[in-house]
Amino acid sequence: MSQQPLGTLSTENLQTLYTQYQSKQLALDLTRGKPSAKQLNLADRIDGILESSFVASNTDTRNYGGLDGLADIKALGSWLLDTPESAVIAGGNSSLTMMYQTVLFQKLFNPSWQGEISFLCPTPGYDRHFSICEELGIKMIPVPLVAGGPDMELAEELVSNDKSIKGIWCVPKYQNPTGVTFDDETVARLANLGNLAGDGFIVLWDNAYAVHHLDNKHPDPLADFWALSEAAGTLDSAFLFASTSKISHAGSGVAFMACSDTQRAFFLKHLGMSSIGPDKVNQLRHVKLFPTKSALANHMALHAELIKPRMELVVRKLDEHLKAPSQGEWTRPNGGYFVTFYAPQGTATKIVALAAGLGVKLTPAGATHPYGNDDSDSVIRLAPSFPSVAELDEAMDAFCLCVALATAQ
Ligand code: PMP
Repeated sequence: MSQQPLGTLSTENLQTLYTQYQSKQLALDLTRGKPSAKQLNLADRIDGILESSFVASNTDTRNYGGLDGLADIKALGSWLLDTPESAVIAGGNSSLTMMYQTVLFQKLFNPSWQGEISFLCPTPGYDRHFSICEELGIKMIPVPLVAGGPDMELAEELVSNDKSIKGIWCVPKYQNPTGVTFDDETVARLANLGNLAGDGFIVLWDNAYAVHHLDNKHPDPLADFWALSEAAGTLDSAFLFASTSKISHAGSGVAFMACSDTQRAFFLKHLGMSSIGPDKVNQLRHVKLFPTKSALANHMALHAELIKPRMELVVRKLDEHLKAPSQGEWTRPNGGYFVTFYAPQGTATKIVALAAGLGVKLTPAGATHPYGNDDSDSVIRLAPSFPSVAELDEAMDAFCLCVALATAQ
Protein backbone atom coordinates (compact mmCIF):
# COMPACT_ATOMS: atom_id res chain seq x y z
CA MET A 1 0.00 0.00 0.00
CA SER A 2 1.09 3.54 -0.70
CA GLN A 3 3.28 5.27 1.92
CA GLN A 4 1.42 8.46 1.18
CA PRO A 5 -1.96 8.96 2.89
CA LEU A 6 -4.49 7.45 0.50
CA GLY A 7 -6.77 10.42 0.93
CA THR A 8 -4.17 12.67 -0.69
CA LEU A 9 -3.76 10.66 -3.92
CA SER A 10 -5.21 11.80 -7.24
CA THR A 11 -8.30 10.04 -8.55
CA GLU A 12 -6.19 8.53 -11.30
CA ASN A 13 -3.69 7.07 -8.83
CA LEU A 14 -6.49 5.79 -6.65
CA GLN A 15 -8.04 4.04 -9.61
CA THR A 16 -4.73 2.42 -10.53
CA LEU A 17 -4.30 1.27 -6.96
CA TYR A 18 -7.85 -0.08 -6.90
CA THR A 19 -7.15 -2.18 -9.98
CA GLN A 20 -3.93 -3.50 -8.42
CA TYR A 21 -5.84 -4.37 -5.27
CA GLN A 22 -8.46 -6.25 -7.25
CA SER A 23 -5.84 -8.67 -8.46
CA LYS A 24 -5.02 -9.59 -4.85
CA GLN A 25 -8.35 -11.40 -4.63
CA LEU A 26 -8.82 -10.63 -0.96
CA ALA A 27 -11.46 -12.46 1.06
CA LEU A 28 -11.84 -10.40 4.22
CA ASP A 29 -14.87 -9.87 6.41
CA LEU A 30 -15.55 -6.87 8.65
CA THR A 31 -19.25 -7.54 9.10
CA ARG A 32 -20.28 -9.27 12.31
CA GLY A 33 -18.88 -8.65 15.75
CA LYS A 34 -17.79 -12.21 16.43
CA PRO A 35 -14.99 -12.94 18.91
CA SER A 36 -11.87 -14.37 17.29
CA ALA A 37 -10.86 -17.98 17.93
CA LYS A 38 -8.08 -16.70 20.19
CA GLN A 39 -10.65 -14.95 22.35
CA LEU A 40 -12.75 -18.09 22.53
CA ASN A 41 -9.66 -20.08 23.54
CA LEU A 42 -9.42 -17.98 26.71
CA ALA A 43 -12.42 -19.80 28.17
CA ASP A 44 -11.64 -23.31 26.95
CA ARG A 45 -11.03 -24.69 30.40
CA ILE A 46 -14.78 -24.38 30.99
CA ASP A 47 -14.96 -27.77 29.27
CA GLY A 48 -14.63 -30.35 32.05
CA ILE A 49 -14.42 -27.70 34.78
CA LEU A 50 -17.15 -29.42 36.82
CA GLU A 51 -15.24 -32.69 37.12
CA SER A 52 -18.56 -34.47 37.55
CA SER A 53 -19.64 -32.32 40.54
CA PHE A 54 -23.05 -31.19 39.44
CA VAL A 55 -24.57 -30.10 42.73
CA ALA A 56 -24.64 -26.45 43.79
CA SER A 57 -26.50 -25.13 46.85
CA ASN A 58 -28.41 -28.41 47.16
CA THR A 59 -29.51 -28.21 43.52
CA ASP A 60 -28.69 -31.06 41.16
CA THR A 61 -28.04 -28.94 38.10
CA ARG A 62 -28.58 -31.92 35.82
CA ASN A 63 -32.25 -32.06 36.63
CA TYR A 64 -35.27 -30.04 35.55
CA GLY A 65 -36.39 -26.87 37.30
CA GLY A 66 -35.12 -23.51 38.46
CA LEU A 67 -36.90 -21.40 35.85
CA ASP A 68 -35.20 -18.18 36.99
CA GLY A 69 -31.75 -19.79 36.93
CA LEU A 70 -29.31 -21.31 39.38
CA ALA A 71 -29.01 -19.34 42.62
CA ASP A 72 -25.20 -19.46 42.46
CA ILE A 73 -24.99 -17.69 39.10
CA LYS A 74 -27.04 -14.67 40.14
CA ALA A 75 -23.90 -12.97 41.48
CA LEU A 76 -22.29 -13.06 38.02
CA GLY A 77 -25.52 -11.64 36.57
CA SER A 78 -25.54 -8.82 39.11
CA TRP A 79 -21.92 -7.87 38.30
CA LEU A 80 -22.79 -7.55 34.63
CA LEU A 81 -26.19 -5.91 35.07
CA ASP A 82 -25.31 -3.72 38.05
CA THR A 83 -28.51 -4.68 39.88
CA PRO A 84 -29.30 -6.56 43.08
CA GLU A 85 -28.89 -10.34 42.77
CA SER A 86 -32.52 -10.82 43.76
CA ALA A 87 -33.64 -9.09 40.55
CA VAL A 88 -31.61 -11.35 38.25
CA ILE A 89 -33.02 -14.06 36.00
CA ALA A 90 -30.39 -16.32 34.42
CA GLY A 91 -31.46 -17.89 31.15
CA GLY A 92 -30.07 -19.78 28.20
CA ASN A 93 -27.24 -18.81 25.91
CA SER A 94 -28.68 -15.62 24.41
CA SER A 95 -29.72 -12.29 25.90
CA LEU A 96 -31.24 -11.45 22.52
CA THR A 97 -33.70 -14.29 23.09
CA MET A 98 -34.63 -12.78 26.47
CA MET A 99 -35.16 -9.39 24.84
CA TYR A 100 -37.34 -10.96 22.19
CA GLN A 101 -39.35 -12.80 24.85
CA THR A 102 -39.72 -9.60 26.87
CA VAL A 103 -41.16 -7.69 23.92
CA LEU A 104 -43.23 -10.66 22.77
CA PHE A 105 -44.84 -11.28 26.17
CA GLN A 106 -45.71 -7.59 26.56
CA LYS A 107 -47.13 -7.51 23.05
CA LEU A 108 -49.22 -10.61 23.57
CA PHE A 109 -50.32 -10.21 27.17
CA ASN A 110 -50.06 -6.57 28.31
CA PRO A 111 -53.46 -4.87 27.77
CA SER A 112 -51.78 -1.46 27.30
CA TRP A 113 -49.74 -2.80 24.35
CA GLN A 114 -52.73 -3.61 22.15
CA GLY A 115 -53.39 -1.81 18.85
CA GLU A 116 -50.67 0.03 16.98
CA ILE A 117 -47.54 0.53 19.05
CA SER A 118 -44.14 2.01 18.42
CA PHE A 119 -40.60 2.03 19.83
CA LEU A 120 -37.93 4.69 19.96
CA CYS A 121 -34.77 3.48 18.26
CA PRO A 122 -31.57 5.39 19.02
CA THR A 123 -29.85 5.49 15.64
CA PRO A 124 -27.39 4.24 14.58
CA GLY A 125 -28.14 1.15 16.61
CA TYR A 126 -28.03 -2.63 16.72
CA ASP A 127 -29.74 -4.18 13.70
CA ARG A 128 -31.09 -7.18 15.63
CA HIS A 129 -33.03 -4.91 17.98
CA PHE A 130 -34.66 -3.39 14.95
CA SER A 131 -35.39 -6.82 13.48
CA ILE A 132 -37.35 -7.74 16.62
CA CYS A 133 -39.57 -4.69 16.12
CA GLU A 134 -40.03 -5.46 12.44
CA GLU A 135 -40.88 -9.09 13.14
CA LEU A 136 -43.52 -8.12 15.71
CA GLY A 137 -45.01 -5.27 13.68
CA ILE A 138 -43.83 -2.54 16.05
CA LYS A 139 -43.33 0.80 14.33
CA MET A 140 -39.81 2.19 14.76
CA ILE A 141 -39.14 5.87 15.38
CA PRO A 142 -35.46 6.80 14.98
CA VAL A 143 -33.93 9.10 17.61
CA PRO A 144 -30.43 10.37 16.78
CA LEU A 145 -27.62 9.05 18.93
CA VAL A 146 -25.46 12.02 19.92
CA ALA A 147 -22.25 12.31 21.96
CA GLY A 148 -23.74 11.34 25.35
CA GLY A 149 -26.40 8.89 24.14
CA PRO A 150 -29.84 9.29 22.56
CA ASP A 151 -31.11 12.83 21.92
CA MET A 152 -33.13 13.05 25.15
CA GLU A 153 -34.86 16.30 24.29
CA LEU A 154 -36.47 14.58 21.34
CA ALA A 155 -37.10 11.28 23.18
CA GLU A 156 -38.91 13.11 26.01
CA GLU A 157 -41.00 15.14 23.60
CA LEU A 158 -41.98 12.05 21.62
CA VAL A 159 -43.03 9.89 24.59
CA SER A 160 -44.92 12.81 26.16
CA ASN A 161 -46.96 13.41 23.03
CA ASP A 162 -47.38 9.94 21.57
CA LYS A 163 -48.79 7.36 23.97
CA SER A 164 -48.45 4.58 21.39
CA ILE A 165 -44.70 4.58 22.16
CA LYS A 166 -44.11 1.61 24.43
CA GLY A 167 -40.37 1.17 24.47
CA ILE A 168 -36.87 2.34 23.73
CA TRP A 169 -33.79 0.27 22.83
CA CYS A 170 -30.57 1.22 24.62
CA VAL A 171 -27.03 -0.13 24.44
CA PRO A 172 -25.67 2.12 27.16
CA LYS A 173 -22.02 1.16 27.18
CA TYR A 174 -19.64 1.00 24.21
CA GLN A 175 -22.78 1.11 22.09
CA ASN A 176 -23.18 -1.07 19.02
CA PRO A 177 -22.16 0.39 16.58
CA THR A 178 -20.69 3.73 17.75
CA GLY A 179 -18.85 2.73 20.92
CA VAL A 180 -20.48 5.67 22.72
CA THR A 181 -21.18 5.31 26.47
CA PHE A 182 -24.23 7.17 27.75
CA ASP A 183 -23.41 10.06 30.08
CA ASP A 184 -24.87 10.50 33.57
CA GLU A 185 -27.50 13.03 32.61
CA THR A 186 -28.75 10.86 29.76
CA VAL A 187 -29.03 7.80 32.02
CA ALA A 188 -31.01 9.79 34.59
CA ARG A 189 -33.34 11.14 31.90
CA LEU A 190 -33.83 7.64 30.47
CA ALA A 191 -34.74 6.40 33.94
CA ASN A 192 -37.36 9.14 34.12
CA LEU A 193 -38.91 8.45 30.69
CA GLY A 194 -41.46 6.09 32.21
CA ASN A 195 -42.92 9.04 34.10
CA LEU A 196 -43.57 10.93 30.86
CA ALA A 197 -44.76 8.04 28.70
CA GLY A 198 -48.09 6.23 28.56
CA ASP A 199 -48.88 3.01 30.42
CA GLY A 200 -46.70 -0.01 29.84
CA PHE A 201 -43.61 1.87 28.64
CA ILE A 202 -40.33 -0.08 28.97
CA VAL A 203 -36.63 0.67 28.56
CA LEU A 204 -34.66 -2.24 27.10
CA TRP A 205 -31.23 -1.66 28.66
CA ASP A 206 -28.99 -4.00 26.67
CA ASN A 207 -25.65 -3.82 28.44
CA ALA A 208 -23.98 -6.34 26.12
CA TYR A 209 -20.56 -4.68 26.55
CA ALA A 210 -20.72 -3.98 30.30
CA VAL A 211 -17.20 -5.24 31.07
CA HIS A 212 -15.66 -5.05 27.61
CA HIS A 213 -13.19 -2.23 28.22
CA LEU A 214 -10.08 -1.80 26.10
CA ASP A 215 -8.27 -0.62 29.20
CA ASN A 216 -9.38 -2.13 32.49
CA LYS A 217 -7.82 0.72 34.42
CA HIS A 218 -9.75 3.37 32.54
CA PRO A 219 -13.23 2.05 31.74
CA ASP A 220 -15.96 4.43 30.67
CA PRO A 221 -18.12 5.12 33.74
CA LEU A 222 -21.83 4.33 33.45
CA ALA A 223 -24.43 5.64 35.89
CA ASP A 224 -26.51 3.14 37.88
CA PHE A 225 -29.66 2.75 35.79
CA TRP A 226 -31.32 0.43 38.30
CA ALA A 227 -30.86 2.82 41.23
CA LEU A 228 -31.94 5.81 39.14
CA SER A 229 -35.07 3.97 38.00
CA GLU A 230 -35.86 3.03 41.57
CA ALA A 231 -35.40 6.65 42.67
CA ALA A 232 -37.59 7.88 39.79
CA GLY A 233 -40.32 5.38 40.68
CA THR A 234 -40.05 3.73 37.24
CA LEU A 235 -38.61 0.33 38.13
CA ASP A 236 -41.47 -1.44 36.33
CA SER A 237 -40.15 0.15 33.11
CA ALA A 238 -36.58 -1.07 33.57
CA PHE A 239 -35.46 -4.25 31.78
CA LEU A 240 -31.73 -4.84 31.90
CA PHE A 241 -29.89 -7.47 29.83
CA ALA A 242 -26.39 -8.88 29.51
CA SER A 243 -24.67 -12.15 28.71
CA THR A 244 -21.33 -13.92 28.72
CA SER A 245 -21.44 -14.38 24.93
CA LYS A 246 -18.39 -12.16 24.47
CA ILE A 247 -16.81 -13.28 27.73
CA SER A 248 -16.76 -17.10 27.61
CA HIS A 249 -17.92 -18.87 24.43
CA ALA A 250 -20.21 -16.83 22.16
CA GLY A 251 -22.46 -19.75 21.27
CA SER A 252 -22.67 -21.32 24.71
CA GLY A 253 -22.62 -18.56 27.30
CA VAL A 254 -25.21 -17.58 29.87
CA ALA A 255 -27.70 -14.73 29.43
CA PHE A 256 -29.15 -12.57 32.18
CA MET A 257 -31.92 -10.08 32.67
CA ALA A 258 -33.18 -8.05 35.62
CA CYS A 259 -36.49 -6.34 36.24
CA SER A 260 -38.87 -5.38 39.04
CA ASP A 261 -40.74 -7.99 41.13
CA THR A 262 -43.96 -7.31 39.23
CA GLN A 263 -42.34 -7.64 35.82
CA ARG A 264 -40.39 -10.68 36.97
CA ALA A 265 -43.58 -12.50 37.97
CA PHE A 266 -45.15 -11.58 34.61
CA PHE A 267 -42.09 -12.70 32.62
CA LEU A 268 -41.62 -15.98 34.48
CA LYS A 269 -45.30 -16.83 34.25
CA HIS A 270 -45.16 -16.71 30.47
CA LEU A 271 -41.67 -18.17 30.20
CA GLY A 272 -42.89 -21.11 32.24
CA MET A 273 -45.25 -22.05 29.43
CA SER A 274 -42.31 -22.69 27.12
CA SER A 275 -39.62 -24.05 29.44
CA ILE A 276 -39.19 -26.08 32.61
CA GLY A 277 -35.85 -24.43 33.28
CA PRO A 278 -32.58 -23.30 31.69
CA ASP A 279 -29.30 -25.21 31.25
CA LYS A 280 -28.14 -25.07 34.86
CA VAL A 281 -25.14 -27.30 34.16
CA ASN A 282 -23.74 -24.62 31.88
CA GLN A 283 -24.63 -21.99 34.45
CA LEU A 284 -22.62 -23.89 37.08
CA ARG A 285 -19.68 -24.14 34.67
CA HIS A 286 -19.72 -20.36 34.49
CA VAL A 287 -19.87 -20.07 38.29
CA LYS A 288 -16.67 -22.12 38.43
CA LEU A 289 -14.98 -20.15 35.65
CA PHE A 290 -15.82 -16.78 37.21
CA PRO A 291 -15.96 -17.34 40.97
CA THR A 292 -15.25 -13.69 41.80
CA LYS A 293 -15.63 -10.27 40.28
CA SER A 294 -11.86 -9.96 40.03
CA ALA A 295 -11.62 -13.31 38.18
CA LEU A 296 -14.05 -11.84 35.67
CA ALA A 297 -12.05 -8.62 35.40
CA ASN A 298 -8.80 -10.55 34.90
CA HIS A 299 -10.41 -12.59 32.16
CA MET A 300 -11.67 -9.45 30.42
CA ALA A 301 -8.16 -7.99 30.56
CA LEU A 302 -7.03 -10.98 28.45
CA HIS A 303 -9.78 -10.24 25.93
CA ALA A 304 -8.64 -6.62 25.85
CA GLU A 305 -5.10 -7.71 24.94
CA LEU A 306 -6.55 -9.26 21.80
CA ILE A 307 -9.18 -6.74 20.85
CA LYS A 308 -7.43 -3.49 21.75
CA PRO A 309 -4.73 -3.73 19.04
CA ARG A 310 -7.47 -4.37 16.47
CA MET A 311 -9.63 -1.44 17.54
CA GLU A 312 -6.55 0.79 17.64
CA LEU A 313 -5.45 -0.36 14.21
CA VAL A 314 -8.79 0.62 12.71
CA VAL A 315 -8.63 4.11 14.18
CA ARG A 316 -4.94 4.51 13.29
CA LYS A 317 -5.52 3.58 9.63
CA LEU A 318 -8.41 6.02 9.36
CA ASP A 319 -6.33 8.75 11.01
CA GLU A 320 -3.38 8.04 8.73
CA HIS A 321 -5.16 7.86 5.43
CA LEU A 322 -8.25 10.05 5.58
CA LYS A 323 -8.89 13.68 6.23
CA ALA A 324 -11.82 14.49 8.50
CA PRO A 325 -14.43 15.71 7.92
CA SER A 326 -14.24 15.94 4.11
CA GLN A 327 -13.46 12.22 3.79
CA GLY A 328 -15.57 11.10 6.74
CA GLU A 329 -15.50 11.00 10.52
CA TRP A 330 -15.08 8.10 12.92
CA THR A 331 -15.53 7.15 16.55
CA ARG A 332 -12.74 6.28 19.03
CA PRO A 333 -14.34 3.81 21.43
CA ASN A 334 -12.83 2.83 24.77
CA GLY A 335 -14.45 -0.59 24.60
CA GLY A 336 -16.90 -2.86 22.83
CA TYR A 337 -16.52 -4.35 19.39
CA PHE A 338 -17.19 -1.62 16.85
CA VAL A 339 -15.99 1.58 15.28
CA THR A 340 -18.51 3.65 13.36
CA PHE A 341 -17.39 5.39 10.20
CA TYR A 342 -19.55 8.33 9.14
CA ALA A 343 -18.91 8.67 5.42
CA PRO A 344 -19.70 11.97 3.70
CA GLN A 345 -23.43 12.07 2.92
CA GLY A 346 -24.50 9.89 0.04
CA THR A 347 -21.31 7.81 -0.21
CA ALA A 348 -21.75 4.85 2.17
CA THR A 349 -23.45 2.55 -0.35
CA LYS A 350 -20.75 3.32 -2.91
CA ILE A 351 -17.96 2.62 -0.40
CA VAL A 352 -19.49 -0.71 0.60
CA ALA A 353 -19.83 -1.69 -3.07
CA LEU A 354 -16.26 -0.66 -3.88
CA ALA A 355 -15.01 -2.69 -0.92
CA ALA A 356 -17.01 -5.71 -2.07
CA GLY A 357 -15.26 -5.32 -5.43
CA LEU A 358 -11.96 -5.85 -3.58
CA GLY A 359 -13.24 -8.85 -1.61
CA VAL A 360 -13.74 -6.91 1.62
CA LYS A 361 -17.16 -7.56 3.11
CA LEU A 362 -18.71 -4.70 5.08
CA THR A 363 -22.04 -4.55 6.91
CA PRO A 364 -24.53 -3.25 4.32
CA ALA A 365 -25.01 0.51 4.42
CA GLY A 366 -28.24 1.24 6.29
CA ALA A 367 -28.08 -1.90 8.48
CA THR A 368 -27.57 0.28 11.54
CA HIS A 369 -30.89 2.07 10.94
CA PRO A 370 -34.54 1.10 11.44
CA TYR A 371 -35.93 -0.53 8.26
CA GLY A 372 -32.41 -0.36 6.82
CA ASN A 373 -33.01 3.32 5.95
CA ASP A 374 -30.04 5.59 6.42
CA ASP A 375 -31.37 8.68 4.67
CA SER A 376 -27.97 10.32 4.75
CA ASP A 377 -26.31 7.17 3.31
CA SER A 378 -23.43 7.73 5.68
CA VAL A 379 -23.04 5.15 8.45
CA ILE A 380 -20.73 2.17 8.08
CA ARG A 381 -20.10 -0.18 11.01
CA LEU A 382 -16.58 -1.60 11.20
CA ALA A 383 -16.21 -4.82 13.20
CA PRO A 384 -12.53 -5.68 13.66
CA SER A 385 -12.65 -8.46 16.28
CA PHE A 386 -12.66 -11.55 14.08
CA PRO A 387 -9.89 -11.16 11.46
CA SER A 388 -6.23 -11.54 12.38
CA VAL A 389 -4.26 -8.30 12.83
CA ALA A 390 -2.53 -8.91 9.47
CA GLU A 391 -5.86 -9.43 7.70
CA LEU A 392 -7.33 -6.38 9.39
CA ASP A 393 -4.36 -4.29 8.32
CA GLU A 394 -5.00 -5.25 4.72
CA ALA A 395 -8.77 -4.82 5.02
CA MET A 396 -8.38 -1.32 6.46
CA ASP A 397 -6.00 -0.27 3.69
CA ALA A 398 -8.57 -1.49 1.21
CA PHE A 399 -11.36 0.30 3.10
CA CYS A 400 -9.48 3.60 3.18
CA LEU A 401 -8.74 3.25 -0.53
CA CYS A 402 -12.46 2.79 -1.23
CA VAL A 403 -13.38 5.81 0.90
CA ALA A 404 -10.77 7.95 -0.83
CA LEU A 405 -12.05 6.84 -4.24
CA ALA A 406 -15.73 7.26 -3.39
CA THR A 407 -15.18 10.75 -2.01
CA ALA A 408 -12.72 11.92 -4.68
CA GLN A 409 -13.94 15.02 -6.54
N1 PMP B 1 -26.85 -6.97 22.13
C1 PMP B 1 -25.90 -6.33 21.46
C2 PMP B 1 -25.84 -4.85 21.51
C3 PMP B 1 -24.97 -7.04 20.71
O1 PMP B 1 -24.03 -6.39 20.02
C4 PMP B 1 -25.06 -8.45 20.68
C5 PMP B 1 -24.09 -9.29 19.90
N2 PMP B 1 -23.72 -8.83 18.69
C6 PMP B 1 -26.09 -9.08 21.38
C7 PMP B 1 -26.96 -8.31 22.10
C8 PMP B 1 -26.25 -10.55 21.36
O2 PMP B 1 -26.18 -11.06 22.65
P1 PMP B 1 -26.41 -12.57 22.98
O3 PMP B 1 -25.30 -13.34 22.39
O4 PMP B 1 -26.41 -12.61 24.48
O5 PMP B 1 -27.75 -12.96 22.41
